[in-house]
Amino acid sequence: MRKPETARNAERGRTMEIVTVDDAIEAMRQGTEVADATVQRLSYGLQYGEFHLPDPVDRERLACLRDRLSALKAARRPAPKPSGPSRTRVCSRCGCEVSASLAMTSSSGTVCPDCYDDASL
Ligand SMILES: [Zn+2]
Repeated sequence: MRKPETARNAERGRTMEIVTVDDAIEAMRQGTEVADATVQRLSYGLQYGEFHLPDPVDRERLACLRDRLSALKAARRPAPKPSGPSRTRVCSRCGCEVSASLAMTSSSGTVCPDCYDDASL
């Protein structure tokens, strides 16, 4: 039977730190809710860890954690590629912005292709 004891669990969750998948299963044994963030943090262990769980109920708990992990992954949008200021360099001669892939290093610092020609004359 499921009892509404969310508030008490939140308090207990603060005292018990979930570091490993085993901890998470132990927390579930005690009726503590495992947060989404925790499931994500345990992602590696859940995917690649091998667990010897003699208790079928524990195996169900593990399966439940793995299900939640895949659900969380499916919900997460792919991260946008880094763009903008971090991908540009400022030319030390003319001050223009060039993309990092075009920036060149000369004796006077990072320069754009135009200035690099001047600098190497
Ligand atoms: Zn320049």
